[in-house]
Amino acid sequence: MSQSTITSTDQLAAAAGLQSLSPSPRMPVLFVGHGSPMNAIEDNAYRRSWQQLGQSLLAQYGKPQLVLCVSAHWLTRDDWAVTGMESPRTIHDFGGFPEELFAQQYPAPGAPAVALELARRLNAPQADRPVLVDAVEWGLDHGTWSVIKPMFPSADIPVVQLSLVYRRPPEEHFALGRQLQALREQGVLIVGSGNIVHNLRAMARTESPQQTYDWSHEFDTFVTSRIEGGDLGALAGFQGLGKVAQLAHPTHDHYLPLLHAAGAVHDGEAPRFFNADYQMAAISMRSVIWGAPDTLRV
Ligand code: ZN
Repeated sequence: MSQSTITSTDQLAAAAGLQSLSPSPRMPVLFVGHGSPMNAIEDNAYRRSWQQLGQSLLAQYGKPQLVLCVSAHWLTRDDWAVTGMESPRTIHDFGGFPEELFAQQYPAPGAPAVALELARRLNAPQADRPVLVDAVEWGLDHGTWSVIKPMFPSADIPVVQLSLVYRRPPEEHFALGRQLQALREQGVLIVGSGNIVHNLRAMARTESPQQTYDWSHEFDTFVTSRIEGGDLGALAGFQGLGKVAQLAHPTHDHYLPLLHAAGAVHDGEAPRFFNADYQMAAISMRSVIWGAPDTLRV
């Protein structure tokens, strides 16, 4: 991508300025249920909550040095990777939506130098393989921009994505999240973007966002109670729920970002939930913030 995708001097300054991370007060950790791509542009309760949250975070912490997002939509086959381009492209990785959604751009800068530093610092759970830097292929997929654009509409905070290696066990995703803990004291806002329940085939129109299936409610309750109890490592064992887990996640790409976020949480950090309801009955929008003061509005 060319520099022309950077549209403001703030964005240019952010791209040029972030050569390394500096110590900071500890940032919170977020897991955001992103649901339908239309949430990026519809004036609905989800998008309004992301807008509110972004404003609250800026007021409480100032600008993060970096947003590190683990999206359900970037799966790499063998190796973990971080995006390392200067101007990550906005990826419209969906079909069958209105033109307005395809027209969306989020020209936040990347942070190539920091991406390189991250790749060096992170140890892939498979010890013999490095974390790669992707400087050409990916960018910001809708799991990232649909949420981050409403939160930080100025697009002046560098954003780096970390991939999922879908075929690796869930425990490894949690273990990689553990390694992200220290970044929180270096101005990094860690955001997992997925959904706690995600079964597109079971989507149905409902009269209320509280309506859902028994299996969906059961899975959402399992996750909620582990989070409330601080038993975050147990989240990686979700497949132990058998049929309920399979119904909640026919493929578990939308669950894995929760494990990265949970891995980055310190013992004893209280969770707060928001958007705790369902989109189209089969997508839990339940979102979590850990490590934020009670006074932070979410
Ligand atoms: Zn998604």
